[in-house]
Amino acid sequence: SKMLYNDKIMERENLIDIEDRGYQFGDGIYEVIGVYDGKPLMLDEHLGRLERSAKEVQLTLPDSIGDLKNKLLELVAGNELAEGIIYMQVSRGTAARWHEFPKADVSPVTVAYTRAEDRMTDVENEGAAAVLTEDIRWLRCDIKTLNLLPNVLAKQKAVENNAIEAILHRGETITEASASNVFMVKDGEIWTHPANNFILNGITRRKVLQLCDELNLKIKEATFTVNELLDADEVFITATKLDVVPILKVDNHMIGTGIPGEATKKVLQAFRSLYQQNVKK
Ligand code: PLP
Repeated sequence: SKMLYNDKIMERENLIDIEDRGYQFGDGIYEVIGVYDGKPLMLDEHLGRLERSAKEVQLTLPDSIGDLKNKLLELVAGNELAEGIIYMQVSRGTAARWHEFPKADVSPVTVAYTRAEDRMTDVENEGAAAVLTEDIRWLRCDIKTLNLLPNVLAKQKAVENNAIEAILHRGETITEASASNVFMVKDGEIWTHPANNFILNGITRRKVLQLCDELNLKIKEATFTVNELLDADEVFITATKLDVVPILKVDNHMIGTGIPGEATKKVLQAFRSLYQQNVKK
């Protein structure tokens, strides 16, 4: 299959240097973009977030966003990807290993590849379980950086407990999950943590909020506690490729009546129509 390496689309190869700063320090940023029937969904939004992440870590993107977009579309076409994801990352480049930024003549390293993946229709329809774990990450979770060890440890805990996700809490406050955003429904209102430094503002999250608005579902972008989550009528998570997944159990607590709730189903349906429309365009 093909990969993007800096500004070239080429056959996939291992070209990363042992002193790539992404490899040694996690010094870089990334995006995961969903591809539905050959079409990336919300590509401009993902590239917008990449630009923001770059700015927040003082990394200068090598290509213009327009060029990058065209290369990613070329990559998807070249790999004849129908259903799956684009993974892309930009590291601060390859240089002798010193913590501080390398000299200005060191260029960032951009890579992207695609991965075929089936839609998670069953779990979206039927729901899944989650576990709770303390959010031990740094205070800039709004930047999509390569440093994911706390997220890896949390997800591993979920998998070891036959759960789809680990929902994170800082003390009593629910933030998000290891690789998704968390929503709860209580008395007809949809709650999710505000987009600040404690969470990654998911592209799916943003779209879901917009869809809720269109569906006349009441939104509260406000924090809620672990106990409020456990006492919710419905809980769901959102992420690229996961779309919208109902959470029916958190640790040993059943959420609501233990089946996917009405608000969650409406949001999932609206999200599905969205990417079906995107495919038809
Ligand atoms: N939160 C975290 C920590 C993530 O890693 C992700 C994405 O994988 C999300 C939220 C969801 O973001 P998006 O909807 O842009 O995929």
